[in-house]
Amino acid sequence: MLDAPPHHISAAETIEICKSYEFLVLFTSTPGWTGDQRLAEAIKRANPQMKIAFVGPPVTTSPDKALNECPAIDFVCRREFDFSVVEFANGKPLDQILGISYPKDGSVAHNPDRPQVDNLDQMPWVTDVYKRDIDVTRYNVPFLLYPYVSLYSTRGCPAQCTFCLWPQTLSGHAWRKRSTDDVAAEMAHAKELFPEVKEFFFDDDTFNIQKVRTVELCEKLKPLKLTWSCTSRVTTDRETLKAMREAGCRLLIVGFESGDPQILKNIKKGATVERARDFARDCHELGLTIHGDFILGLPGETKESIRNTINFAKALDVETIQVSIAHAYPGTEFYDFAAENGFIINNGAMVDEGGHQLAHIEYPGLPKDYVLEMVHRFYDEYYFRPKAAWRIVSKAIVNRDVKRLYVESKSFLKLRAARNKVVADGKQKAGKTPGPAVNAGA
Ligand code: SF4
Repeated sequence: MLDAPPHHISAAETIEICKSYEFLVLFTSTPGWTGDQRLAEAIKRANPQMKIAFVGPPVTTSPDKALNECPAIDFVCRREFDFSVVEFANGKPLDQILGISYPKDGSVAHNPDRPQVDNLDQMPWVTDVYKRDIDVTRYNVPFLLYPYVSLYSTRGCPAQCTFCLWPQTLSGHAWRKRSTDDVAAEMAHAKELFPEVKEFFFDDDTFNIQKVRTVELCEKLKPLKLTWSCTSRVTTDRETLKAMREAGCRLLIVGFESGDPQILKNIKKGATVERARDFARDCHELGLTIHGDFILGLPGETKESIRNTINFAKALDVETIQVSIAHAYPGTEFYDFAAENGFIINNGAMVDEGGHQLAHIEYPGLPKDYVLEMVHRFYDEYYFRPKAAWRIVSKAIVNRDVKRLYVESKSFLKLRAARNKVVADGKQKAGKTPGPAVNAGA
């Protein structure tokens, strides 16, 4: 496994490394597609014998486009790819591998779909691969303890959130789980492999959707005395949260998305603002930290609903937040809605050349630059409250982590300046003079 960017391995070095291999599996994304395609072409030029498979959402939703645009690709895997690539590596001919598409006689052949993997326990443990191939200290996520290791204990999510990429493209709505014995055994192993790691993060689509399984797993994790974190829906009840806390859970990553009841209905979140409030209260009382995710620009968004969301977030008062602009990824219900109604702009581009988020959805009466500016405003209003600022500083002092706080504050302010510039540039392009931040919904 090669994860080049965090290890500061350049494209030229990646191409050099690829000269010693005969088969490459490249996980691509919609924002990364153009760069990945160029990289694959350069790898093929440097090593013409190399077989190249692309996997990931954009090649799942548009296999013809991918293969037509990039002749360097030998085949793409649609949806789950674990066993397709192993079969190819073991010499199975392309026309016998389920779930792949490949160039054939001047067009694209699509083999029948591959059934989803039901028995996740048959997969090898990823932590052994991490130990062999990556340096875990290269990864730093501000709201997780450092260093951390992330892994999966389930796949898929039965919820129907219209904007969510993974269940609609890769992992599916069938929730499949590893046995609690398998997960607990890997965690015990990981503890030995990575004594320096401070936190293990279950990056499942949704970790604790089934109470019985969560409580059973917690029983088995408890004796390991690990610190861990996971994704969570706000529908998780107090008893489950308590079991998690007692088993070493420290933090939950929670998709609140919006504080406006109508938006939650529009995106089929399957949760209410009232439930979100109760959930946040339970977590705080039990000593669980929350990292809350919010999205601006979802279907039906107005200046008023944006204001509702910002006020809602401040009332929840979770420890850290992440605010994104709504992105409609091909293959999602949200994308179909936006395309059918003509709401997609900028040819669907999601990031600019500098890698900054671009708004690519615009609704009548809600200019995209306004939404972008409100993302910026959201962060400012949230973190520049005395309560929020003091909580962060005091935690860093208690944890003797002031150095990390300094580094992260610097990077936050740098990002803030970059966001400011994007907003100001957008205003200039629109022929307006940059002024003070607008007072949304006021
Ligand atoms: S946002 Fe979360 S709950 Fe909704 S479909 Fe995606 S993973 Fe499931």
